[in-house]
Parts: sequence; C-alpha cells; structure tokens
Amino acid sequence: MKDKVPDLQQQFQNSTVPELLRFFLEKFEMRIALASSLGAEDQVLTDLILKIDPGARIFILDTGRLPQETYETIANNMAHYSRSFEIYFPQTSAVESLVSLNGPDLFHESIEKRHQCCTVRKVEPLQRVLNTLDVWITGLRREQSVTRQEIQKIEWDETNQLLKINPLIDWSTEQVWQYIRGNKIPYNKLHDQGYPSIGCAPCTRAVNPGEDIRAGRWWWEAPEHKECGLHFRDGKLVRRNQS
Ligand code: SF4
Repeated sequence: MKDKVPDLQQQFQNSTVPELLRFFLEKFEMRIALASSLGAEDQVLTDLILKIDPGARIFILDTGRLPQETYETIANNMAHYSRSFEIYFPQTSAVESLVSLNGPDLFHESIEKRHQCCTVRKVEPLQRVLNTLDVWITGLRREQSVTRQEIQKIEWDETNQLLKINPLIDWSTEQVWQYIRGNKIPYNKLHDQGYPSIGCAPCTRAVNPGEDIRAGRWWWEAPEHKECGLHFRDGKLVRRNQS
C-alpha cells in the first residue's frame, strides 16, 4: 500500500473531510479506525465519521490514569451516539510489574521512567490495536506545532507499517470549535478550564493565556522531551495535542 500513497495524496489534495473519510471508510471497512483521545479534534472526527458510518471503529486507549472529565466524555459519547467504543487497557502484568518496582508516580523521577510508563500504558496498547488495521485516522493538525508542518493528509506510517490519515491537518483551532459548538457534540470539559491539551491526569495541567498549548503536558520536562511515543514520522516522534 505504501507505493499508492503519492497517488492518494494527489487524488485527495482538494477534497473535503467527509469526502476523504467516506472513501477510506467504505474501502477499508473494519480495517480502518479512529484513534480517539477524546480531545476536541477527535470529537469532531467522531461526529463526522459516525455521520458516514454509524458502525465505524473508534478506539480509545485507557491508560488507567485519565482525568475524570475524560471518562465523562466517554460516557457522554456513548449516550450521544447510542453506541459502544473500543476501549483498550495496558497489559495487567506489565502495569503490575512497573508500579510494583517503581511506585505509581515513577514518571516524575526521570525521562526514562516517564517513557517506560508511556510505553506500558499507551504505546503497547496502541500497537496491539494497529495490528488489526490497515489504516488509522488521527486528529493531528499542522497548526498545533512547528514540528507538524510537514505532516501530510495521507501518509505512510513506516513504524507501524500502515496508512495514516490526518483529515483535519489544515483546520484551525477556530474551525474545530465552530464545528463542536455548531453541531452541539460532546467535548471534554477540561477544555473550558484552560486545558488545550489533555492526557493522563498526573501529567497534564492547565496553561496560562499565551503559553504554548503543550506547556501543560509533562511540564517538568524540557520541551524536546514532551513526546508520548504514539506518533512517528520519518523515524522521529511527532507531537500531538491530545495523545
Ligand atoms: S502520560 Fe504520564 S501517566 Fe500517562 S502513560 Fe505517560 S507517564 Fe504514564
């Protein structure tokens, strides 16, 4: 499939988000899924996808350390769309071993231990789901970070060996919120409390006006280390707002 990427990029260069989603959802059926972190972009994509295919696959990684507001967003989604979502947990034995050896809050001790936690709680479950897919859909946007300027709407995920679709790549923050408010869809209430980026509860705080949207994630680390390991491009980690 990798060799088809340039043609697909050309074909969908000027297409709308629903056109793009419809093509891939119809073509890949149960081998395509949205990776949702319940962030604003993923809520927009959830709505757009379910308007096209109410039975489409949408998965959530429950690290076991998510904020209560994120769990409420999951419950609100289930009620709003009257359907279930695929929820994946880390391997029990891996979490038991990690926490037994290092304590529950090892991420504060060193970057290595923080990465260990993210690997056990996020990366392994993600890879387990991606093994069931040919295509994954994400809510990445170019505006989120200078490191995302080169991201393409359709790209080959070399690390995970599958197609990656980023339908909202050119959307602005205003467009995302216009869609959410205009369509009255559920969203994580932490967004109203100064959290532009929401991850695990102990690793996320609100940001002050004017601060970088990533400032509230792993705020005790230098900016270049603020990665969770979910998104790679050309062998390098890509920052993500809600991962
Ligand atoms: S964000 Fe924090 S709690 Fe969540 S998996 Fe990573 S280190 Fe662990």
